Amino acid sequence: MAMVLGFHGYSQGNTGYWQQEVDYTMKVAMDVETYRYTGDQTLVYTNNSPDDLTRVYYHMYFNAFQPGSEMDIRLQSISDPDKRMVVDGKSRIAALAPNEIGFLKPLSLTQDGKAVSYNLEGTVLVVSLDHPIVSGASSTFVMSFEGQVPLQIRRSGRDNKEGVALSMSQWYPKMAEYDFEGWHADPYIAREFHGVWGNFDVSITLDKRYTIGGTGYLQNPDEIGHGYEAPGTKIKKAKGKTLTWHFKAPMVHDFMWAADPDYVHDTLPLENGPTLHFFYKNKPEILENWKNLQPKTAEAMRFFSENIGPYPYKQYSVVQGGDGGMEYAMSTLITGERTFASLVGVMIHEMAHSWFQHLLATNEAKHEWMDEGFTSFISSLCMNAVMNQQKPNPFEGAYNSYYALVSSGKEQPQATHADRYEYNSAYGNSAYSKGEVFLAQLGYVMGQDKLMTTLQKYFEDFKFKHPTPNDLKRTAEKVSGMELDWYLTDWTQTTNTIDYGIKAVSEKDGGSEIVLDRIGLMPMPIDILIVYNDGTQETFYIPLQMMRGEKENPYGNVSRTVLPDWPWAFPTYTFKIDKSFENIKAIVLDPSQLMADIQIENNVWLPNEQ
Ligand SMILES: [Zn+2]
Repeated sequence: MAMVLGFHGYSQGNTGYWQQEVDYTMKVAMDVETYRYTGDQTLVYTNNSPDDLTRVYYHMYFNAFQPGSEMDIRLQSISDPDKRMVVDGKSRIAALAPNEIGFLKPLSLTQDGKAVSYNLEGTVLVVSLDHPIVSGASSTFVMSFEGQVPLQIRRSGRDNKEGVALSMSQWYPKMAEYDFEGWHADPYIAREFHGVWGNFDVSITLDKRYTIGGTGYLQNPDEIGHGYEAPGTKIKKAKGKTLTWHFKAPMVHDFMWAADPDYVHDTLPLENGPTLHFFYKNKPEILENWKNLQPKTAEAMRFFSENIGPYPYKQYSVVQGGDGGMEYAMSTLITGERTFASLVGVMIHEMAHSWFQHLLATNEAKHEWMDEGFTSFISSLCMNAVMNQQKPNPFEGAYNSYYALVSSGKEQPQATHADRYEYNSAYGNSAYSKGEVFLAQLGYVMGQDKLMTTLQKYFEDFKFKHPTPNDLKRTAEKVSGMELDWYLTDWTQTTNTIDYGIKAVSEKDGGSEIVLDRIGLMPMPIDILIVYNDGTQETFYIPLQMMRGEKENPYGNVSRTVLPDWPWAFPTYTFKIDKSFENIKAIVLDPSQLMADIQIENNVWLPNEQ
């Protein structure tokens, strides 16, 4: 089932885009008593790069869950550690016993039939090739490996706090990505991933009482049963203690599975859409929420497909497991003992990642704001619709978190690698909140309709690829006709802030003169609303000169005057209106509050306060 999903080759215009491909065939056997597993992996690596490769790297993520690992030491040295990973202020990794740690190690490895030398450096396996993989060629790697599933500390693991037996993410030897920037063999320290697109064929043998959910289409449903069988099919009782589940997943860049003997498995086929699968523990106190979650999941699937682009796979699974919420190909792991609103909220966020990470696979370690921020943006819109919240500004929470980040003094540029933030809290506010504001505010800059058109075109042009910040910006430029380099640069590569203000309003030749000032370094176009004492109102728009374009009137029912451009370097800007000073009831800069102005007090002018 290769390449059925509309991946249109490797050429991307004159940018010289290419991407590698890996096709995995894996057979693994899990011992559910010891949490040990063994596997055989055949990996066909196709080098579409212009370069000849003499090394490759595998991620061996489970080695992070050992005392003394980089993840452990980072946990012990950061001042605001993830609460899930510490107990009484101490690293939970440091306290793992030998039978509780995670590990993943190769037992043998060959390239095209010849043994290769390798070195396991923590969570990264460095492989010196027997012979180079020249540009355009393929090599086949065969690895036998063994692993142990750690007690759940972060994302994956055994026996999560809600009693799910196996949350199997980051569990297999995973080829690191080599792209136009070179290798990305990041050690697993805290967060964020980057993977190679390809096809997966995975067979999992384990205790037959366990139900598996996750990435991939089950190939032998009528043999397995467990809720996968066609309605009315009689399943033959398996001989022996185990079942072998055979999954295939075309064009994905990760493969997750979870298993538990007490999973309830519901399915919900959608018209013109995928079949939704739900896996959750058979606990009376959560059943109602998990049943009610199902129509909301269908609504969210429709919302994202209509607003971003059609979901291309035939299946999406919401699986109870993990330690909060984490996105995977065709699936998510979420904790399930929550209020209904929280359960819907986490499902929506993780499902939105199907678009912003599992279809638009940005390198989220380098551009975490594109992954978490864009996901948060579309989730806020989706929550507003699906939960009927009717918030006038669904992004308000994100703006407030961004303002808190600025005033904390702990902000680092969004271009910081996800592992290199001094504070976890600053990472969170930067990636999620400031990332969400990036898009919400881009809607202010270019107009909301143009923003949504941009997202749709961006999806269409870059799905099944690894888009970069510039790809999003160029798409926005093409849709709007504006120049937006200043926006991308200031917002994501610096900590410059926006602060415009109303400096003075005075009587002038029977009319009024208004002086604005630019206090912050970051440029912005300005919307101004003036309300008069007779109840009428009008708006003014000052385009930013360097953006070489103007948005459409966002306040369609209120008349708008487009004023001359504001060249950024000028600290003040003066304009006149015909109405006299006494007629003015209020002047407001950006009444939408979508411009992230860090000082809101100077955005409103009222005559009686002067
Ligand atoms: Zn997320």
